[in-house]
Amino acid sequence: MAYSDDELRAIYRKTDGKCHLCWRVIRYALYGAYAERHGWEVDHSNPRAKGGTNRRSNLVAACCSCNRTKRASSTRGARKRNGVSTRRPKSRNEKRATRRKNKAIGGTLGAAIGGAAFGPVGALLCGLVGAAIGNDVNPE
Ligand SMILES: [Zn+2]
Repeated sequence: MAYSDDELRAIYRKTDGKCHLCWRVIRYALYGAYAERHGWEVDHSNPRAKGGTNRRSNLVAACCSCNRTKRASSTRGARKRNGVSTRRPKSRNEKRATRRKNKAIGGTLGAAIGGAAFGPVGALLCGLVGAAIGNDVNPE
C-alpha cells in the first residue's frame, strides 16, 4: 500500500520516531529501507489477515525486522517477545501531556507535605521542588 507524505509523517509521529514493537529508534527518511538499521515500514497493528483496517488508528511505525517477524501475529505478543511495554511509545504530544500532569502532581504533593511540615514557606518551596521532580520523571 502506498502512503502519502502526510500519512507517513502522522504515522511516524504517533510513536515519536520509535518502532512500536521494540521501541528502537527509526529514521523518517529511511521509510521502506529494509537493509538500513533504522529503516521502517507501516505495520497494521491488528493484522489485515485478521480483519485489521487501513484506518489511521490501525497503522503504526515498525522497524522492518519487527514488521516482517510479526506477520499476522498480535501486537501484544510481539511486544511481549521483545520485552517492552505492552503499550506503544508515546507521541511527543502525549509525552508533553504526561510531563504536565506529573509536574502538577509533584507540585501538589510537595506543597501539601512542605505546608504540613514547615508552614506556608515550606509549602511554596516544597511545591516548587515537587513540580521540578514531577517534570523530570520519564514521561514514557
Ligand atoms: Zn522494532
